[in-house]
Order: sequence, then C-alpha cells, then structure tokens
Amino acid sequence: MRRSTLSAGRATGDHQGGAVDVSDLELASELCRAALHSPLGFCRQTIGSLFRRALASGEAVVELSGQIRCSGEHWQRAFASATERRGVVGGETIAGGGRCAWLAAPLLGYRGVIGFVGVSGRRGGYDAAAQSRFSALASLLANALSARDKVPRAPAAPPGVAKPSPLRGTQVDRGSAAAHPASWPGGASEVEQTLRLHAAIVECSGEAVLVTDREERIVSINRAFSDMTGYPESEVLGRSPGMLLHRDGQSTLLARIADRMGVAGEWRGELQFTRKDGNPFPARTLIAAVRDAVGRVQNYFFVFSDVSERKEAERQIHQLAYYDALTGLPNRSLLYSLLDKALSIAVRSRTHVAVLFLDLNRFKHIVDSFGHTQADLILKEVSRRLSATLRAEDIVARLGGDEFVIALPDIGRREHAGQVARKLLAVLAEAYFLETQEILLSGSIGISIFPEDGRDTEALLKNADVAMYRAKGRGSSALVYYSQEMNQRSLEQLKIEGALRRASERGEFHLVYQPQLDLGSGRIVGAEALLRWNHPEHGPISPAQFIPVAEETGLIQPIGEWVIDAACRQIREWLDLGLSKVRVAVNLSARQFSASLPKRVVTIIARQAIPHDSLELEITESMLMHSADSVVAMMREFGEAGLLMTLDDFGTGYSSLSYLKRFPITNLKIDRSFVRGIPCDRNDSAIARAIISMARSLRMSVIAEGVETAAQMEFLRGAGCEEIQGFYFSRPLPPNEFAELLLRTNL
Ligand code: C2E
Ligand code: MG
Ligand code: MG
Repeated sequence: MRRSTLSAGRATGDHQGGAVDVSDLELASELCRAALHSPLGFCRQTIGSLFRRALASGEAVVELSGQIRCSGEHWQRAFASATERRGVVGGETIAGGGRCAWLAAPLLGYRGVIGFVGVSGRRGGYDAAAQSRFSALASLLANALSARDKVPRAPAAPPGVAKPSPLRGTQVDRGSAAAHPASWPGGASEVEQTLRLHAAIVECSGEAVLVTDREERIVSINRAFSDMTGYPESEVLGRSPGMLLHRDGQSTLLARIADRMGVAGEWRGELQFTRKDGNPFPARTLIAAVRDAVGRVQNYFFVFSDVSERKEAERQIHQLAYYDALTGLPNRSLLYSLLDKALSIAVRSRTHVAVLFLDLNRFKHIVDSFGHTQADLILKEVSRRLSATLRAEDIVARLGGDEFVIALPDIGRREHAGQVARKLLAVLAEAYFLETQEILLSGSIGISIFPEDGRDTEALLKNADVAMYRAKGRGSSALVYYSQEMNQRSLEQLKIEGALRRASERGEFHLVYQPQLDLGSGRIVGAEALLRWNHPEHGPISPAQFIPVAEETGLIQPIGEWVIDAACRQIREWLDLGLSKVRVAVNLSARQFSASLPKRVVTIIARQAIPHDSLELEITESMLMHSADSVVAMMREFGEAGLLMTLDDFGTGYSSLSYLKRFPITNLKIDRSFVRGIPCDRNDSAIARAIISMARSLRMSVIAEGVETAAQMEFLRGAGCEEIQGFYFSRPLPPNEFAELLLRTNL
C-alpha cells in the first residue's frame, strides 16, 4: 500500500482542461470545512465537487454512511472490494503504466467504515501521483468526518461564503507522521491523528508556511518556506516575520494589514518578501490568527507562494499588448486609454488637452535607401528625442510606421501646443547618423485641441490627422492647427484619392508635350512631358491638384512609372515615324525616389530600345535637400546610365553653388516666377542673369520656363540662356500636334 501524502504540487481541477488553481492547503482546508461544518446533504455535494476538482475527474461518488445506498452497481462492487481490502482499489488499467480508469476508497473511522468515495472519468486515467493524492484526500476526509461530532458546528452558510478556517484552534506540530488511509496506528486519538495529518499536509505543501506565537515570534516553518526564502529553520526561529517583509513602499499596506487582522483575524493579498540573498519577490499571501477555545489569539500563520514568474509573465503580456516593440512607447490601444483618462480629468478640471499628430516626411525613402534595420534605428532615435523633449506627464505613442501621437494634458492656451510642436520639430531636424552617413529628417505636425476640436479621443485623433495632412502639403517641418473647414477639404481629397486609383486602371491619364526651343538654332530640341487627367465627370484636372494627393497616398509610384513608360513609348513612335531626334523630359516626384528606380527606368528604356540620352529626368531642388546621400547615389546611377538630368523650378529652393556640385546635373531650369518679371522687374532680371552665368560656370546648360512674351525671350537670349519653353512659343500639345510642329519647325 502507498504512503498517503498529498503531493506537493498543485491540483489542476478542471478536467475539461481549464485549470482551476487550487493549492493543496486550500483544498485540504475546504475539504475539512465541508466535512466539519456543513449539513450532511450539502456536505456530500461539496465533497464530491472537491474530489472532482482535485483529481480532474468527470465523476465523483460520495457515500456518507457505512451502507452503500445511492450509488450504482459499479460503485457498489468497487466499494465492497475497497472495504474488503481496507484501502484504495483501482479499476482496470487503460493504457498500462499503472494507470487506473477509476479509484475507490473506504472512509475509515475508528469504529469501522463510515463512508466511501470514488472518482472516475479523468483524461488519461489516474497515475501514481493521482492515486496517492486520492488516497491522502480520502484519509483526510475520513479523519475530518470522524471528528465532526466533536467539533461545534457553525451555522450553515450559503456556498461561496467563507467559513472559519479549519486550521484555527489547531496547533501546528512539526515532525510529521503520514496518515494511512486504511489502518490506524494503534492507540492514537482521532484529534492527534488529525493534527498529524495537518502537519504532514503543511510540510509537503508547495506553499511556504510560517507559524508564530502570539508575540509574533516565529515558532515553525515548513520545507517550502526554506526553499522559497533561502532561510533554514535555525535562522528564523524566534524572530519576527517582519524580517522577511520588504519595507520599501509597503508601510501603508502593512499598517492596513495590521488593522484588518485586528478586525477580521485574516488577510489575503500580495506582499513583497525578501529572500536571504536580499532579492525581493512578490507572494500571494494568507495571514490568519489561530485562536483558542475562548477566542484569544494563540498563533498567527502565514501561507504564501512566490508569484514572481506569474507576475513576470503578466508584465510581458502587458508589454506586448500595450507597448510598441521597437521603441517601447505606448501603442495605439494604450494611447486610447491614456487619452480617454486625460480627457475625463480635463472635463472635471475644465482644462484643455492638445493632441499632436506627427508624421515623418519622406521616411519611406530612408527605408528604401537604407533598409528596415537602419530605418528602425532612426525610429528609435526619433522616439528617444521626442520623449526627452517632453515632460513626464505628456503622452508619446507610436501608432506604427512613422506616425507618432503626442498628447499634452492640461495646456493653458492653444498657442502652447504650437510651441511644443515647434520644439519637437526642431529636435527632429537635428542630424541623424547611420554608420558614417548623415541623414536629415523633418516632420509634419497636425494639432487638435480638446474640447474645441473634438469631444472624444477618436475625433481628436482624426482631426489632428487631417491637420497633419495639411502640414505635409506645406513642406518640411510644418505644423498646422485643425480647423473645421479642413474636414470639408479632406473629404474632397478623399474623393480625388478614390478617383485617382480608378484613373490609372481605366486609362484616364495621358501625356501632353511642351516643345523646348533652342534659341541659337531656332529648332525644337526637346519636350517636357506633362501629365493630364481627364476625369469622366469633372473633366480635366490640373496636375497641381492631383499630384500632391498622389504623392501623399503613394499612388505616385505606379502613376510615375506609367508616365516614364508612356514617354518612352512615344519617343519610340516618333523615331519610327522618322522624326528628328528630340529628348523628352519627365517630371519625377520626390516620393518616387527609391533605390530600385534607376534599374526600373533602364529596363523601360531597354524595352523600347531608345537612346539613353533621349530621356531626361526633371527633379526639383527640394528633393535634393532630403536624405541627400541616397539621392546622390541614385542620381549617379542615372548619370552612369547616360540619362540627362534637369533641376526644375530652379531658384525656388536653397541650392548653393557648392551644393549643386555634388549632383550629376546636366541642365538648370529657371523657374517661371523669375521669368515673369523679366525684363521690367530689375530684381527678377538680375536673378535670371546670375543663374545663367552660374550655370555656365558649372558647365550646365540653361533653359527658362514660362516664357510668355517676345521681350522675355529676347532678354534671355541676350543673357546667354540657351533654350526656352513657354506659351510664347507653344502650349503643351497632344503627340500628333507636337509631331506636326516639329516637322514644320525643324525643316
Ligand atoms: P512643372 O514641371 O514646372 O511644369 C511646368 C508647368 O508650367 C506646366 O504646368 C506647364 O503647363 C506650365 N507652363 C508651361 N509654359 C507656361 C507659360 O508660358 N506660362 C504659364 N503660366 N505656365 C506655363 P502643368 O502641366 O499644370 O504642371 C504643373 C506641375 O505639375 C508641373 O510643374 C510638375 O511639377 C507637375 N507635373 C506635371 N506632370 C507631372 C508628372 O508626370 N509627374 C510629376 N511628378 N509631376 C508632374
Ligand atoms: Mg517640370
Ligand atoms: Mg517647373
């Protein structure tokens, strides 16, 4: 026969698989409570369900009399054989390995059999551990039931209401004697038996147990206590449990516990303990007073288990659920709940909350040029800079990608949000270093203010987002406050976006070609391809209107590639018609730039088998200002492939001479805004002249765009400008009209 001890492990009592976390001590105490204090009928049910939980069983049968009355034939046979054996019997093995399909045991009082208990329906059967657990529980139950008559019964309480602990009034005795389910050691009294059994349970429990006398000096501990805290018995006996308690930040809690103990004699909760090596650990703890027959405290006991692993798991789950893995900043869900909280405080205190929506400009280029790993480093640095600039009470969250949200609870005035936004834009604009490369970044910020711009988190975020889009349109490092008319305009933008997506599929785009005239020879030497969108309902839409939307939505990528492809096909067609060779310029958008662009362009050129120098790329100054190194690399590739490159809208950016030298640019295009004032405006005239002489010293050729009058053309010719483009000579033309003009002009 087996020694009957409860296993030190924990029972997972739900045989359906959902683990019910019951410790052995809790189980024993509930079992005793049911056996000792409840009316017999209720007691039977409770015991049955405890056995089911403790042994993960589908069925538990309990008989609380010497005669088997209620159970079916199978159990009658099982109990008869258990009575005969005076011990646990098991049903036939299912899968071998000593596993049983069911277990039955007699409940033995000192006068004989006082009942039976049986369990069945455990998944995989009952292994040795389950068998000994069953045996120990049966034995504990038998002891409790025999003691039942001697213990004053508390009035029955409804299930779920805590009853006095069975350990109360019990002196815990170390040095255990394991009880036996089937036979009693001769001469021992029932009470002694119970005490020994309790001692055995305490000793074998996986939970640490500590008992003090009424002066709160430790008188007893169990094995788990030493395992958990590192203290052997000799180092704690006679000392106060306070030696184990971590003092930092717990003093109010300890005072509360003392109060609670005074009132209820029991406290449950979580406490920080300290191990012998000084490391603290959180523990789920029960503290209870043990009283004597007249109600005086005799002992206190602590039962606790280390929950640091569980807490760590909880912390990790929390971290994963609420924080962005890359930057460690709150994620979208935590932002929502933090912002909700901040708003409800603002309602009560009648203050304002600012929501700043921040998006990094052209971050995609960084990803395209440097790869995700490097781009991630920049995002981390961005989040570090943001957090360092803000106050502790401000909220910074990353929504994903290059989008961040900053919430400023309790701002005094609307303008303060703008001040903070400017500060953030300034720290973002400081240089970043990837390996040895210097990178410049800028951001766009949209601001909405509670309660004026939105009464809840959702509305504030949406409106700050709308404002951010406005800011993007304004160029680098811009901030824009939300205003109501924005919603209207962003709706229009949404409509354009939807229509744009369809436009490329339905072939609503076409190119027109504006001739470029060589002033020296009077011949057409090139053309600028300009994109046109003919909307089926709204008619022609200006590129000035839809290109920015295409850029913001990323649609510029496929559209831009279509433009290059269409221009190359056109060049091929004109060559096939035997027209004189002209170069065709296409406009490139900054958002189109990526490391793979040169290869894709070269592929298109190869497909049409056209000379490489018949395609010209127009880029703008502002494009050169950002992530300059990757752009230089890309332009070199274009240059090496023999493509021509023109700097469009020249004079509107900030290019210095030395700056331009870094780029393999072949042509400069003087912006229309300078041409407009020529020749009357002295300023414009001087600038145009300066640009032309500068370009010559850099050995670039110069073209002036937007030439509308003969006077402008003559001035430019005199200043040494080589080519012109503008309404004076010709508007942008459909391909066939362009071909006719070319034939006529270049006879
Ligand atoms: P841009 O590259 O500076 O193109 C020149 C613009 O000036 C064209 O306007 C052209 O029609 C206009 N223009 C030409 N001569 C004159 C003139 O004598 N007087 C005046 N007042 N205007 C003149 P458009 O076609 O409306 O294009 C506007 C802008 O849209 C372009 O400016 C360019 O930045 C962009 N764009 C056009 N097509 C494309 C394209 O295929 N891809 C990209 N990314 N952008 C494009
Ligand atoms: Mg252009
Ligand atoms: Mg231009």
